[in-house]
Amino acid sequence: MQKFDVVVLGAGASGLMCAAQAGYRGLKVLVIDHAPKMARKIRISGGGKANFTNITVSADNFICRNPHFVKSALAQYSSQDFIDLVERHGLEYEQREQGKLFCQNSASDLIQILRTECNWAGCYFWLNTTFQAVIFENKQYQLSTSRGLVLAENLVVATGGLSFPKLKSTNVGYSLAKQFGLPVVPASAGLVPLNFKDKYLALCQHLSGIALNVKVSVVNKPEPSFTEAMLFTHQGLSGPAILQISNYWQLGEGLEINLLPQLNVEAELLQLKAQNSPLSRWLKEQFPKNFYQSWLELYPMEASLANVSHETVKQYAKKLTQWQLYPSAKAGYDKAEVTLGGVDTDHLQSKDGQVKNQKGLYFIGEVVDVTGHLGGYNFQWAWSSAYTCGTHIQGKK
Ligand SMILES: Cc1cc2nc3c(=O)[nH]c(=O)nc-3n(C[C@H](O)[C@H](O)[C@H](O)COP(=O)(O)OP(=O)(O)OC[C@H]3O[C@@H](n4cnc5c(N)ncnc54)[C@H](O)[C@@H]3O)c2cc1C
Repeated sequence: MQKFDVVVLGAGASGLMCAAQAGYRGLKVLVIDHAPKMARKIRISGGGKANFTNITVSADNFICRNPHFVKSALAQYSSQDFIDLVERHGLEYEQREQGKLFCQNSASDLIQILRTECNWAGCYFWLNTTFQAVIFENKQYQLSTSRGLVLAENLVVATGGLSFPKLKSTNVGYSLAKQFGLPVVPASAGLVPLNFKDKYLALCQHLSGIALNVKVSVVNKPEPSFTEAMLFTHQGLSGPAILQISNYWQLGEGLEINLLPQLNVEAELLQLKAQNSPLSRWLKEQFPKNFYQSWLELYPMEASLANVSHETVKQYAKKLTQWQLYPSAKAGYDKAEVTLGGVDTDHLQSKDGQVKNQKGLYFIGEVVDVTGHLGGYNFQWAWSSAYTCGTHIQGKK
C-alpha cells in the first residue's frame, strides 16, 4: 500500500491547482483521475481559449446558499494572483468585453502551466485510475482504486459537477459528501441554453443563428438582470445573456427581455409618431430583417404611428422592452457549462474548504455549492478554493 500526505481526487482545474500548492509545501501529493487526460474541461472551455478569470471578481458574481462563503477564498487568492501566475509562465492572453480574460492561443497553454506547476511541486499522478471506495480509519483515509490501495492523511475532493458527462463527469463528490454525513444542495444544470415549445420554438427555429444584444431577467424579478448577447437556436435561446439567466430561472417562470436596452423605446416611438416617420425604417435600423419581419407577424404594429393613440404606442414599446416568453425546459447537463448546487457550504470551513467535523477531508471547486456567473468566475472559484486548500492542508511532518 502506498502512502501520501494528500490524495487529490480529480485532475481538473481545482485539483491541479491544489496539488501544486500542497506539493510546494513539501507534502507528498497524489492526484487521481479516471480520465486518461487531465483537465479536459479547461481544454474545451471558452471556445478552446479558456476564459480563465475576470479583471473584476467579487462575491456578487457567485451563487451560493451562503453568499459570504466565497469571500475568504477570493480574498486569499484573487484574480490578480492568478494573472500574476500565468504571466510568470509567459502566457499570452487577451481581455475581452466585461473584463473577461482569455488565452490568446489555446486553452492547452493553461493546462501546460498547471502541469508544470505540479511537476515543479513534485506531485504524483495516477490518470486512467478508477476510484472505488474510501474508508476513514486510524485518522487516515484508505482509498481503493483500480491501481491498488492508497493511504493518505488528507483527502481533497475536486471531482467537479455533473455538466458535460461526455468528459467523464460523475456524482462521486456528492456521494462522498453523503458518506461523511454532509448535506448536498440539489444539483441542477447551470449556464445552460433554454428550450421552448410551440410558437416560440417555431420562432426560434426560424431565426436560428441571429444574435441580439438584450437585457434579460426573470418575470417579476427585476434583479439580477444581464445585458449581453442572446442567440436564437433550433431548440430555443442561448448566448451569454440566456446562459446567465438560466442560473436563476425555474420551470414555470417566464423570461422578460428588453430587446433594445440601449434605447428609450417609448420616447423613440413617440418621436416617430410626431414626425410621421415610417415604423418599418426604424425597425430596420434596430434589428436584422428576419427578426423584425417575424416580430411584426407575431405582434402586428401599424405601419405609421401618426394616427395611433399614445396608449397604443406605449403598448408597442412595452412589447419590445418587456417581451415575456416561457421556456419549456433547461437544455440539460450535456449543454450546461456548470452545475448549480453541491456540497453544502455550512459544513465547510470557508478559509480552506475543510469539512468542519471531519479532519483532513476537503471539498473544492465546482463540487461545492458555489456557482459563478459567466465570465471566468467559475475558474476563479476553482483557483481560489484550491489555493486556500493547498496552502492550509496539514501534513504529518
Ligand atoms: C463547455 C464548457 C466551457 C466552460 N468554459 C468556462 C470558461 O470559459 N470560464 C470559466 O470560468 N468556466 C468555464 N467552464 C466551467 C469550468 O470548466 C468549471 O467550473 C471548472 O472546470 C471546475 O473545476 P473543477 O476542478 O471543480 O472540476 P473539473 O475541472 O470538472 O475537474 C473534475 C475532475 O474530476 C475528475 N473526476 C470526476 N469524477 C471522478 C471519479 N469518479 N474518479 C476520478 N476522477 C473523477 C474528472 O475527470 C475531472 O478531471 C466551462 C465548462 C464547460 C463544460
